[in-house]
Amino acid sequence: MTRNKDTHDYVIVGAGSAGCVLAGRLSEDRHVRVLLLEAGGSDSVKEVRIPAAFSRLFKSTRDWNYSTDPEPHLNGRRLYWPRGKMIGGSSSMNAMIYSRGNCADYDCWEELGNQGWGWAGVLPYFKKSENQERGASEYHGTGGPLSVSDLRCVNELTRAFLEGAAELGIPANADFNGPAQDGAGLYQVTQKNGARHSAAEAYLRPAMGRRNLEVVTGAHALRVLVEARRAVGIEYAQDGVPRQARAECEVILAGGAVNSPQLLLLSGVGPAEELKAVGIRAVHDLPGVGKNLQDHLMVSVGYLCNKPVSLAGAASIMNFARWLLLRNGPLTSNVAEAGIFLRTREGLRAPNLQILFGPAYYVNHGFDRREEHCFGFGPTLIAPQSNGSIGLCSSNPLDAPSIRPNYLRAEQDMQVMIEGVRWCRAIAHTTAFQAYRGDELHPGSAVASDEEIASFVRAEAQTLYHPTGTCKMGRDAMAVVDSCLRVQGMEGLRVVDASVMPRTIAGNTNAPTMMIAEKAADMIRKG
Ligand SMILES: Cc1cc2nc3c(=O)[nH]c(=O)nc-3n(C[C@H](O)[C@H](O)[C@H](O)COP(=O)(O)OP(=O)(O)OC[C@H]3O[C@@H](n4cnc5c(N)ncnc54)[C@H](O)[C@@H]3O)c2cc1C
Repeated sequence: MTRNKDTHDYVIVGAGSAGCVLAGRLSEDRHVRVLLLEAGGSDSVKEVRIPAAFSRLFKSTRDWNYSTDPEPHLNGRRLYWPRGKMIGGSSSMNAMIYSRGNCADYDCWEELGNQGWGWAGVLPYFKKSENQERGASEYHGTGGPLSVSDLRCVNELTRAFLEGAAELGIPANADFNGPAQDGAGLYQVTQKNGARHSAAEAYLRPAMGRRNLEVVTGAHALRVLVEARRAVGIEYAQDGVPRQARAECEVILAGGAVNSPQLLLLSGVGPAEELKAVGIRAVHDLPGVGKNLQDHLMVSVGYLCNKPVSLAGAASIMNFARWLLLRNGPLTSNVAEAGIFLRTREGLRAPNLQILFGPAYYVNHGFDRREEHCFGFGPTLIAPQSNGSIGLCSSNPLDAPSIRPNYLRAEQDMQVMIEGVRWCRAIAHTTAFQAYRGDELHPGSAVASDEEIASFVRAEAQTLYHPTGTCKMGRDAMAVVDSCLRVQGMEGLRVVDASVMPRTIAGNTNAPTMMIAEKAADMIRKG
């Protein structure tokens, strides 16, 4: 059969966490031709490979560098939202924490009508993707593409954090992804041999030699080509030149929770009235596109450190040489080395508060610097009741979308943040931290009452970089995809990325997104 070189069986938009998994898995079948379009470029820079350097990618050419609209409950601030724009997507710039959330999160997805997405249905895909350094078990897999490792170099402040948590009666947890999620422990990380192991390293690079896989970088998808409600391809721009790629089987959107709904909206798939307002004719009136945005909100609680032991100064020539030659030392740190998952009240099915700990000053995404040694906590709301939306500002595909997370719209969300700050202070005042604890920098000891802490949260809280849910799967009127991730009311079109989560999960979102793509690839291949 002669085939046009611009025609493939599957056209995937976005080489991020999900897109790399899809491209790797679908191209295992030599009989199908896969095209992967990525708006960004190469990930071959040391800031991607060196774990501790991830924040150096912020506001670089490898970042979409988004900002939210003014946030009504955060003093009208526009919050900076980094998203990876390169091969590997956000998995090439994230903090590498390997966390699946809670088994109850997935059971909830299934209860919402998404058959097969309960914990029993998703665990095999977490295991399939995993190469767990500690070996295989009921909860973990070995031999999968993604390397999951213990940190090679744990800071003494991180050890103090774990001792401090124990003093407060928080149980130690040696594996957040094992039988129980609650407690305090070290994170495992998506690293291989002391370097970042992104979705690109794990899934895409090993597949690059396949003749049936084509990867095009610098290819910004502009819209889905639709004929009679069937997606037949993608129009994209490369170096300013418009091009088309045709898909004989399916178009798969894997642009992430900001860009996948944006692309659907640009293609006329979304709430008809909203589309009309920006001059786009609706191809399919689908009200849920861009809605149901959920993210995890974090605020930095920071202290001066009385001993010169933090990661300040870690970026030395000696440490770089150590990383280069031995793949060890402080540059292997993911900064947020340990954490706690806890429930702030009884009756919850899963933890609603995550406290990250880093032996560093991490305020304003690392842009604010201090000369002194510091350490800090990041209390994070992981079961937010508030939600927001992604919308279009214009019909120009190269314009950034409007991002409205609506953080803290629900009052109980603020209460969790306040309790989170109080927990951090309590840990900082344990005997484990006595020798280290200097002045409290954020919020500062003058901030004491609930009202004062709430003002601090409104003034300083930031994203923990986990947007989800904007093309949610389900069966209700606001669902965008069905439980096979096919766009409702369309043919030949799926969304496979963090946007399909019907509810966010109680943890970091990279491993869950890769699990979603593993499961989707399996469904697609089985037909
Ligand atoms: C700074 C940061 C730290 C994080 N830390 C952690 C962590 O420690 N642990 C964790 O579990 N999670 C973490 N996350 C979250 C996690 O990385 C994401 O949830 C996950 O990567 C989302 O995967 P995705 O496939 O949905 O989107 P992405 O990985 O963002 O991929 C989307 C891809 O699509 C491309 N794309 C978008 N639009 C277009 C278009 N129109 N045309 C062509 N290509 C397009 C993008 O360039 C990108 O490559 C972090 C994220 C960030 C940004």
